[in-house]
Amino acid sequence: MTVRPIVVYPDPRLKTVSHEFTATPEELQLVSDLRATMLAARGLGIAAIQVGVPTRLIVVGGRGGESSLAMANPVIVSMDGDVRAVLEGCLSFPGVFETVRRHTKVVARWQDPFDMATTREEPFRDIRAQVLQHEVEHLQGVTLASRWSRARRGTVTGQLKKYGRAF
Ligand SMILES: [Zn+2]
Repeated sequence: MTVRPIVVYPDPRLKTVSHEFTATPEELQLVSDLRATMLAARGLGIAAIQVGVPTRLIVVGGRGGESSLAMANPVIVSMDGDVRAVLEGCLSFPGVFETVRRHTKVVARWQDPFDMATTREEPFRDIRAQVLQHEVEHLQGVTLASRWSRARRGTVTGQLKKYGRAF
């Protein structure tokens, strides 16, 4: 289990559309590394591209001490509940928070990375629903920056340059 360096904005790899997870030995090693990296960084979720590997693998943690869930090839099959404006951070944007709109309930479908024949489908609520929506966007190359205006991008990039070296 290795804590890997996190890819930080404006690294262009964050815009990559990740490919299908196929459970290669390297990808399976990545599962525990992603968990370790997320915990070390005190994140609530992480996508493989955030350690520079463009495969469709995410880990969703939880604030309430739930164990983290590794999800291969996750898709959101339905979104429901209220849409709320929530303040959101990202391990690839240290110190940056953006207001985004997220559904409070989603249903996700994914594969267990260690048992690819098993497809699971379950509902997620509240913070875990928010994290899931955020991490699935990473797989499409979508980040907090995708929502910024040009002016906002300039301001935040300046802040990250000052702040980012500490990481
Ligand atoms: Zn993120």
